[in-house]
Formats: sequence, structure tokens, C-alpha cells
Amino acid sequence: MTSLQKNRKERDIVIIGAGLTGLTMAYHLQKQGKNVLVVEKSSRPGGAIRTLDESGYTIETGPNTGSLANEEIVNLFNSLSGCKLEVANKEAHRRLIWKNGRLQALPSGIFSGLVTPLFSWKDKFGILLEPFRKKGSDPDESVADFAKRRLGRSFYEYAVDPFISGIYAGNPEELSIRYALPKLYALEVNYGGLIRGSIAKLKDLKVERKKGVTKDVFSTEGGLNRLIDALVSEIGMENIVLDVNPEILEVEKGKCSLNLNEIRVDCSRIISTVGAHSLPELFPFAPENLMSGINNLRYAPVIQVAVSIHTSEVDRDDLRAFGALIPSKENRRILGILYPSVCFKNRSPQGKALLSVFMGGMRHPEMVHWSDNRVKELVREELKIIYRRPELNAQILGIFRHSHAIPQYEKNTGARMEAIAEFEKLYPGIVIAGNAIDGIGMAHRVKQAISEKGSST
Ligand SMILES: Cc1cc2nc3c(=O)[nH]c(=O)nc-3n(C[C@H](O)[C@H](O)[C@H](O)COP(=O)(O)OP(=O)(O)OC[C@H]3O[C@@H](n4cnc5c(N)ncnc54)[C@H](O)[C@@H]3O)c2cc1C
Repeated sequence: MTSLQKNRKERDIVIIGAGLTGLTMAYHLQKQGKNVLVVEKSSRPGGAIRTLDESGYTIETGPNTGSLANEEIVNLFNSLSGCKLEVANKEAHRRLIWKNGRLQALPSGIFSGLVTPLFSWKDKFGILLEPFRKKGSDPDESVADFAKRRLGRSFYEYAVDPFISGIYAGNPEELSIRYALPKLYALEVNYGGLIRGSIAKLKDLKVERKKGVTKDVFSTEGGLNRLIDALVSEIGMENIVLDVNPEILEVEKGKCSLNLNEIRVDCSRIISTVGAHSLPELFPFAPENLMSGINNLRYAPVIQVAVSIHTSEVDRDDLRAFGALIPSKENRRILGILYPSVCFKNRSPQGKALLSVFMGGMRHPEMVHWSDNRVKELVREELKIIYRRPELNAQILGIFRHSHAIPQYEKNTGARMEAIAEFEKLYPGIVIAGNAIDGIGMAHRVKQAISEKGSST
């Protein structure tokens, strides 16, 4: 008898990947009475989410904040007792954009909208005609073309482009409006325009607000790792295996098996939550032409640099915000800066501000390979220019590289969704979830985890 035959275990469902998607799914399925095992290749749960506590700073090395954009994320926080949701304070409503050699606040009302230097007069008045513009006819239209067509060039350059840098670290010329910003796309398709659609949806917004769904950004008190710790504690470490490269031995409808470090686990279903780039390693038996239609998903490489500055060293107004974004037209070398210690409690020592500086993305993927010294030098130089303080003394607390940070939903997304459906038909018993489909943000991940992808049947 081989060691694999001797060491045999049974589970209802095996989930591959202990990031937010995999852990939320396991938590949800356990609540439905399923005997679940989570299998993770690395030595810690959390995936992209990781918080470090260092010298009085609470540093996020991956996502800093999420959005309370759906009922599923609100309900997850309501049901978990081991962590406390922290909603960003009111400063987070203020967003800064770099233009004309300084940071400008994104307008929040009619008067500030009229006087802002961010947009041209032509586009400010042109917005009044937005409800009367024709619907687009190209389902593969890019985010850039959609924004220029509906809102005008200056809104594209100084609102949409930096917003896309902030969310996708992406290039709006390459992202598909239909897949990357499906809610905006639906406003035009269903209501004829963004303003008409937003007005029509006001009623839905009220209903959503009653359920706790808002545009607010969130973290967890003490950092996002507390959310991961709370999920892990609910699931139980006995149901999570770390440091293992799962080998799939058998896949049939209702009957699958895996080799996990010489232990055979039989289960009725395997759910993958790994990124698209990791799928070929997990499913080496899949036909190459089918797999290539799934793992052709491009990911933006991102460097995140944690920086500390004295709050007294920069203008108060330049720090009183959620963060600052840099439009690509301005040709600076960073994508943007988030201000976690401004938005959340106890993230930095008294008198210091913690900044998260983002670099690289789809427009500068090579930066992820830069040396630490080159990154440090560039960040220090850029911050001196952005805050207009040549003597600014920025202290670099950490440099975190993500070679596959954010998936880019481009026009081949529809074909990828079909390839995933075909894969699942070919291998009944395997489900492909994760950020290859259904959205890139934490709220999307939680929603997918408790949708039919993570259902018990
Ligand atoms: C730098 C950065 C900034 C971000 N900023 C934000 C933000 O501001 N707001 C927001 O909402 N979202 C943000 N995100 C996105 C957010 O972090 C992700 O949506 C979310 O954490 C992804 O969770 P996941 O479980 O789907 O994937 P992951 O976290 O990638 O987890 C997948 C897991 O699968 C494991 N794995 C891979 N291959 C195998 C294998 N063969 N066997 C076993 N395990 C395997 C990996 O080790 C990993 O732990 C950001 C992401 C990054 C990287």
C-alpha cells in the first residue's frame, strides 16, 4: 500500500487559495454545514492582504482600503465578531488631483465644479448636454473612448484617467468599459446616459443605504489583517493547510481527489480562487488552447512604498484627504499616494503621517524590477515636487512589490468568461473563482465568495 493510499482523508469541498476570496468562501460554506479544507501554497493566509505593525505604524503591504459597495461585504463584517469595521473619517471624501504644479481638490459641488481648474470650460458646460448624447454602439469600447465621448477630454484626463490609475493601476485605453466599469456601462445601456441613469437609480440608492451599502471606504481597526485573522479563527486552523502545492489526482463529477504533501484528500468539489496566472500550474492537465484563453489575463505590476513624513512639513490642505492621484498626462513617475493615517485611527505616531505611494502599473511595468535604492530615490524626489517642499525629509518604511497586483479587464474578458465556463463543463467538479472574473476589489471578492461560485451545490 502506498503512503497516499494509507493517508487518506475526506472533505466535502477543497478550496485552493487562502486569500480573501478563499477564506470568505470557506467561512460561508462552513456555516452551511459543509466540511471544507482550504489549501494555500504560501506560509501565511491572507493572499494580497497583509498588515505590518512597525515602530508605531500600521502598514498595509497590499490593499489599504475597500469600498462598502455591496450587501455581501456589509453582512460579512456584521457576522464576524473577531474584527471591527472602521469606516474612513470625513477627510476621505476629499480627493486630490495633481495639475499645474500643485494638488487640486476634485470638486464636490456645483460651485467648486465651476471654479475648478481641473476641467475646461467647454467640458464644464458640455456636461449639461451629457443626457442628450447618443448611446455608444461598440460593445468593446475602451474606458478612455467612453469617457471622452460622454464627458469630454478634460474630464477624461483629470478625473477618469487618474481614477483608473488608483483602482486598476491600468491604462484606460486598454480597459473595456463594459467589463472594467460595468456599473457605468449599464447606466448608458439602460438609461441612455450617466446623469439620467444616476437620477433613475437614486431610489435604489436609498434602499441600499438602509442595508449599509454606501460609497464609504473601509478598513478594519488595526489594519486589514484583522479581517483575515477573524476569518481564520472562525474557519479553524485545522481546516487550513499552508505551504502546500496541491496536485490534482482525479476529477469527476462529484468525485475529486488531491495529493497534499503525501496526504490524499477526496472531496466532491474543488474550488480554485487563485489568480489567472497561477491556473496552469494548478491544472497542468487542461488543454493548452483552453487554458491560454483564461490565463491570457494581464495583471498590473505594482510597487507600494510606505513612507513617513512630519505632518508639519507639508501644507495642511495637501494632506487633508483620502489621497492624491497623478493623471498620466502630467508625466510624473508615481501613480498616486494614499493617506491611511489621515483616514483611520492609530496608523502612525503623533505628528507623523503615513503615506502609501504607488508606482509602476500597466504604463510602467518595468519599475517593479527596480532596485530598492532607485525606488527610494525616486519616491523622495517625487514627494518633494508634489508637496512643493525641496527640503522634505521622507522616511521610507518599506517597499512592497506585487508582480501580479491587479487584473486588467480588457476586451477579451467576455471570451475568458466563456473559456472558464467551457473548462468547468469539461471538468465537472472544478469551479474557477478568484479575480480572473467578477471584479478586482475586496467587496467584489466577498460577493463572489458567497455567490453561486461558492455555493454548496
Ligand atoms: C497592491 C494592491 C493594492 C490593492 N488595493 C486595493 C484597494 O485599495 N481596494 C480593494 O478593494 N482592493 C485592492 N486590491 C485588490 C484586493 O487586494 C484583492 O481583490 C483581494 O485581496 C484578492 O483576494 P483573492 O483571495 O481573490 O486573491 P489573492 O489574495 O491573490 O489570494 C490567492 C491565494 O492563492 C494562493 N495560491 C496561488 N497559487 C496557488 C496554488 N497553486 N496552490 C495553493 N494556493 C495558491 C496565493 O498564494 C494566494 O494566497 C489591491 C491589491 C493589491 C495587490
